[in-house]
Amino acid sequence: MNYFHDLWDDFVSLMFPRLCYGCGNHLMRNEKLICTECFILIPRTNYHLKPDNPVAQLFWGRCLIERAATFSFYTKDSRIRKLIHQLKYKGIKEVGFELGRIYALTLKTSLFLEDIDIIIPVPLHPSKKRQRGFNQSDIICQGISEVSGIPVEARLLVRKTVSKTQTRKTRYDRWTNVHDIFRITDQGRLRNMHILLVDDVITTGSTLEACANELLKVENVKVSVVALAYSVI
Ligand SMILES: [Zn+2]
Repeated sequence: MNYFHDLWDDFVSLMFPRLCYGCGNHLMRNEKLICTECFILIPRTNYHLKPDNPVAQLFWGRCLIERAATFSFYTKDSRIRKLIHQLKYKGIKEVGFELGRIYALTLKTSLFLEDIDIIIPVPLHPSKKRQRGFNQSDIICQGISEVSGIPVEARLLVRKTVSKTQTRKTRYDRWTNVHDIFRITDQGRLRNMHILLVDDVITTGSTLEACANELLKVENVKVSVVALAYSVI
């Protein structure tokens, strides 16, 4: 029976080849979305094992973050860059979900996720979300949630919509306004929670800082942050 099943599988993969989203090579029968070579070659940071890592240091003196880490480095030719590109610009949501799952499995080998109550994605600008149809950070959260069992709450933190007067402001004005672009919809639901904020890529950390500062206004809240990649380009 197995023999015929394998034969059928081979036939299907010959007719409809499954390709790796990281490199474009054919996937083997036991591989899912990402081939073994890409999986191995993703440059891991292992920051979840180093509390004083460079991503945690980004927030020093800016906001109080409990723990901070990223799965990998986002470099010019890295496979993770290609994979995140597939998620964000090609709309391949399964890739984001799978990367979220893989990262959560890594985090679970340490105490990083211990006492986290809730997972919240960095909200996407409403016009971008309309254009893309989804928030990539939300998809990553779903993958992390599946492995960790921690619930995702995407509606508790939202981005304020930009008013017409704001769009007329100078670049400097808009830059200073970055600290006031997020809003909490239900303070009561977040009280006493340890929140895991999730983004796709961390560059300067200013968006996450703005989110964290808004969340930290809630009584007895703790915030940790993770992203798939840390941009060192
Ligand atoms: Zn590959």
